[in-house]
Amino acid sequence: MALKKSTPSANALRALRRKLPERVLSTQAVRFEASVDNLKLSFLPDAVVKVKAASEVGVVLKLAQRHGIPVTSRGAGSSVTGSAVPVKGGWALDLSALNTVKIDPVSRIATVGAGMVTADLQARVEGMGLFYPPDPSSKKYSTIGGNIACNSGGMRCVKYGVTRDYVLGLGGFLADGSPVQWGLPLKKYVSGYNLRDLWIGSEGTLGVVTEAHLRLIKKPEKRALALYAFKHEADALRAVRDLLKAGIEPSILEFLDRQSVACAEAYIGKALISEASGAAILLIELDGKWSELRQQQTTLRAFMKKKVVAQREARDEHQADALLEVRRICSQSMYSLGDTKLNEDVVVPIERQAELIRYSIALKKEIGLPTPTYGHAGDGNLHVHIMYNRGDATQARQAKRGIKKLMQKVVSLGGVITGEHGIGLAKAPFMKLQHSRAEIAAMQAVKQALDPKGILNPGKIFEPFEVWNHEPVEVKFPWDHR
Ligand SMILES: Cc1cc2nc3c(=O)[nH]c(=O)nc-3n(C[C@H](O)[C@H](O)[C@H](O)COP(=O)(O)OP(=O)(O)OC[C@H]3O[C@@H](n4cnc5c(N)ncnc54)[C@H](O)[C@@H]3O)c2cc1C
Repeated sequence: MALKKSTPSANALRALRRKLPERVLSTQAVRFEASVDNLKLSFLPDAVVKVKAASEVGVVLKLAQRHGIPVTSRGAGSSVTGSAVPVKGGWALDLSALNTVKIDPVSRIATVGAGMVTADLQARVEGMGLFYPPDPSSKKYSTIGGNIACNSGGMRCVKYGVTRDYVLGLGGFLADGSPVQWGLPLKKYVSGYNLRDLWIGSEGTLGVVTEAHLRLIKKPEKRALALYAFKHEADALRAVRDLLKAGIEPSILEFLDRQSVACAEAYIGKALISEASGAAILLIELDGKWSELRQQQTTLRAFMKKKVVAQREARDEHQADALLEVRRICSQSMYSLGDTKLNEDVVVPIERQAELIRYSIALKKEIGLPTPTYGHAGDGNLHVHIMYNRGDATQARQAKRGIKKLMQKVVSLGGVITGEHGIGLAKAPFMKLQHSRAEIAAMQAVKQALDPKGILNPGKIFEPFEVWNHEPVEVKFPWDHR
């Protein structure tokens, strides 16, 4: 099924230029830009096709299918797994210009182009008193098409769910260029097989999304954010379990271990809470109607009173955003610990997060490398990182050993190797750890049925690829604050 490294025929490119003369770009600079995503490994496409209308996607795919050219869809290229990288060459299909938006305030449905930037959509609907909750930290840049292809999550998922929970319908194209519509801008739809949900999270390997119908909800009236410091990580994670058990319903419930807090504090040049510098942290947001919010705040304050060593409540939205920014800069701040990061967005049962954090601390000692961990504790979705210096052969060997051990531990805890980033290239070596042969064969049968020539984003999910054996390129993205 997998395509061999392809050198697309000059005929195919000539035909594409004839059909879409304005859309085909092949300068070195443009090809390089589309050769790389946030994993920072570069594989040059032969050309970039920047479509301006959905119908052009059909034209591109028809030609690609006829000539057997790999096509890798691309939104903002913020994928952290290499899923947007054209690892087999061919054409990079840039969908970022498909950014129309239409909002139906009666049905509370937004119909958006795949290239719509997540935060732009949120701002548009919030101006109408509505809310689109999925909020990956990359939301100022990431596109709705990319969010759908990765089934992205974010901080608000603990209360509101992930991208999948908001997708009512998708419009797009099959590998052979046929237009398809999986669902409509309707609140109910059960006609035929649900291929909409099969496309969501399939990383552009089963079809190309050009348009999405998204469910909106009413915007919460108020929100209140507080930061709580704990002596030990296990205390913080026990508090997470107990507060969920007690029926408290946070809209954000984020955890930062002491390693992450130390990095963040060094990065911003001050303690998050002066009397508890370096402590493990929970960031908790409550939202809703003012009256409900006050009641929840009272319950949460009473709940936390004896558990924390210190706390800070944001007095207004501005302070709340500043506290949340601390969580957002965590990722960049870790580069003080090493020039290379292995970033695993694993999920374990909420009850077992304390075990996972104990393991990550033990792993730090065992492999002699930092393992800063933070993430969406309300979903059991912790981002465990191994930081190392690539040039140091011992560190590189230990990092590779450490990541394999971590993944084994996650699966043994009843968890999953990725909760929101997807498989792409980076997680491909661990598919067999997570899935049986039968499961993988069933997935490949679906791929074969929907993309018999294997032209859509080939080389991802199923093929062995070891990121640590590839040299990253020097590239600075808009989301890199370093
Ligand atoms: C700083 C930072 C923070 C992040 N935080 C989060 C987070 O909190 N939660 C989270 O879930 N992720 C997070 N991510 C990962 C990433 O931003 C998300 O996966 C995002 O959804 C990718 O969107 P994109 O537009 O950049 O897609 P791209 O990176 O361009 O593509 C991602 C995948 O989607 C496919 N694709 C893109 N568009 C389409 C389309 N129209 N049709 C079919 N397939 C398509 C691509 O082929 C590729 O497989 C973060 C990344 C960074 C750099």
